[in-house]
Amino acid sequence: MKVITTVNEMALWSDGNLSSGRTIGLVPTMGALHSGHISLVNKALSANDLVVVSVFVNPIQFNSASDLDRYPRTFDADSALLGQAGVDVMFFPSVKEVYPAGGIVEYDLEGLDEHMEGPNRPGHFNGVVQVVTRLFDIVKPNAAYFGEKDFQQLAIIRHAAAKLGYGLNVVGCPTVREEDGLAKSSRNALLTDEFRQRAPVIFEVLEESMGLIAEKGIQKTKAHAMAMMTAQQLRPEYFELVRPDTLQPVTDDWDGPVQACVAAWAGEVRLIDNLRVK
Ligand code: AMP
Repeated sequence: MKVITTVNEMALWSDGNLSSGRTIGLVPTMGALHSGHISLVNKALSANDLVVVSVFVNPIQFNSASDLDRYPRTFDADSALLGQAGVDVMFFPSVKEVYPAGGIVEYDLEGLDEHMEGPNRPGHFNGVVQVVTRLFDIVKPNAAYFGEKDFQQLAIIRHAAAKLGYGLNVVGCPTVREEDGLAKSSRNALLTDEFRQRAPVIFEVLEESMGLIAEKGIQKTKAHAMAMMTAQQLRPEYFELVRPDTLQPVTDDWDGPVQACVAAWAGEVRLIDNLRVK
């Protein structure tokens, strides 16, 4: 596996391979890789001639300096995992390489960022779209792979890629979980033992809400989920039931599909998860 750290070399590698007719799959990550990331890598490997995995902790999508500082960085383990998986290039650029001119570009996310992560993490999705489009411009992939674990992010990237005219396939991949249901996340490594034991309540409330919506209605289902998490000493930020396409909260008269999305603090660690509940 090649490790490329400069934008120039990355772009040259892609241009050369694309002009020889090879297809490229891109998996953007922030590193501290686990089997959730590797499931995206495997999907990319099965559908493309070549696979690039970017490992870049994107400063402009963080809301606090301490979260950015604390974010786990595990280059040696990551490169070993990607090499074993059969990845062609690990793209590992510096912040200066990715953002030589600095500056924040503003995107109109057309309401997709109005609820859930949007208001709780101002500027977050704008930063995500900025880094992902930058990676698309450099790597020029035929397809890019993202986890359904970050459901709102996936919807926003799909929307932005189409609106900005990227002719690539945005592929969503199912959430990989621990045996007790906790969604795999780089942040799980930061959980204390106590909160690691309590955190699976997040998946429990998602699963329970499946039956509760029909029985008790939207508002009571939400209140029940918040109470269950609080009872486990978590500090829930939101538990929302939304339309999977518009990400707008549903009401009891909504007859279509429903995605339950949740964010909760387990001690000092903020976790998110979601599930199709109807
Ligand atoms: P991150 O490194 O957290 O930015 O994640 C990089 C990509 O991996 C994103 O598209 C995530 O949605 C995806 N991902 C993270 N955790 C999981 C998981 N448990 N299952 C599936 N995909 C995941």
